[in-house]
Amino acid sequence: MGGYFGVVSKTDCVADLYYGTDYHSHLGTRRGGLAVHDGTACQRYIHDISNAQFRSKFEFDVMKLKGRMGIGVISDTEDQPLMIGSHLGNYAIVTVGRIANTAELVKKAFGLRSAHFSEMSGGEINPTELVALYINQGATFAEGIQIAQEAIEGSCSLLLLTDEGVYAARDKLGRTPIVIGHKPGAYAVTLESCAFPNLGYETVRELGPGEIVRLTAEGFDVLALAGHRSQICAFLWVYYGYPASTYEGINTEAARYRSGAALARRDSTPVDVVAGIPDSGTGHAMGYAQEKHIPFRRPFVKYTPTWSRSFMPQDQPTRELVARMKIIPVRELIQGQRLLFCEDSIVRGTQLRDTVQRIFDYGAREVHMRPACPPLIHGCKFLNFSRSKSELDLAGRRAIKELEGHDGAPPAAYAQPDTPQCKAMVERIRQRLGLTTLQYQQLDDLVGAIGLPKEKLCTYCWDGQE
Ligand code: SF4
Repeated sequence: MGGYFGVVSKTDCVADLYYGTDYHSHLGTRRGGLAVHDGTACQRYIHDISNAQFRSKFEFDVMKLKGRMGIGVISDTEDQPLMIGSHLGNYAIVTVGRIANTAELVKKAFGLRSAHFSEMSGGEINPTELVALYINQGATFAEGIQIAQEAIEGSCSLLLLTDEGVYAARDKLGRTPIVIGHKPGAYAVTLESCAFPNLGYETVRELGPGEIVRLTAEGFDVLALAGHRSQICAFLWVYYGYPASTYEGINTEAARYRSGAALARRDSTPVDVVAGIPDSGTGHAMGYAQEKHIPFRRPFVKYTPTWSRSFMPQDQPTRELVARMKIIPVRELIQGQRLLFCEDSIVRGTQLRDTVQRIFDYGAREVHMRPACPPLIHGCKFLNFSRSKSELDLAGRRAIKELEGHDGAPPAAYAQPDTPQCKAMVERIRQRLGLTTLQYQQLDDLVGAIGLPKEKLCTYCWDGQE
């Protein structure tokens, strides 16, 4: 994934840019970048943030930066922002999304003969540079962005820092949000609206799918109108969106309470305690506990002073070690209890199996798991959103492979909660995780908890529907 923040101000914008970008740190773990326009040119810094906080990496850079316009990014993959010289003028660019047809776009670009790529890493083309190449084909920035958006399969939301202001363009199907904020003397754009309150911004409105605006310190111009079709990622509300953020007018934490309540209404399992797997399971668990009038407890406590965010160790054993060290079990709250946990989702299930075993080792009588979304059976094609390298690593797909005897595309029946196929898959996952019971959220209930019509949401990773 990744996140972005941009600002145009009548006074120096660097502090807002620094803190606003930092509020996207939960969305990426590889690179952070800032670009600031000082009135004549752009200055840029990029750092590897795979083993340190964004703020600690940039705290000395921001003292050297000065300017009234800037863009920032947290990226899960490549270096950003890129600085581009073109017939449109010099600009800096950041993107969030996933280009599914890179090879085709590169081939077309080389057909122009004059095209070349300079930002290569491990033989791979930097997708942000590819987007810039298509933008440069336009007669204006807005036209170029539309050319790029039309050419890209997958998704792409982006910010440009130019001499005339900050351009913001939301993905053509709106898979990732862009929110405009205002405070006296400044306008800003952000993926996470939680970046606004502490910097003094009020949300003005969100961009619609495919909409393009240009921000100045006085306001913003709409350069391309929003389209009618939306496919915003439903996983924002389930897992990776920040609880204090609101997308499409729907707050993430409030949606998680409703999601937990929906899980509770379908459940008659007698338990003593409801808990969340920290952090994102917590909101769902609070909704569940409240609906059932069962005590909410924290039998696992996250050690936040030094494990405040998920870094990305390269190897699986280190990732598992980090996951284990981050949460501490509390024997007094576990021993002899029938515990029901809400979890945002089950991806591979490897860490969860270890967690369940630890809960039993600490004397739990029963451990029940209630994931807040249906079984994941398709890898994300649109956002690089994945904690897993192959979709065949997904717990759901592994179970289907065992049941079907092959690893081809899963039959549609596995995505329907009441079919024998789906029940058999869930039972396989329950056995592998060593749980007393396992009951997943149903897709209709998740959609209802979010509160948008299903056709406006992307739900591909659960039901394979595009
Ligand atoms: S496939 Fe899943 S994670 Fe990817 S955009 Fe769609 S809902 Fe979001």
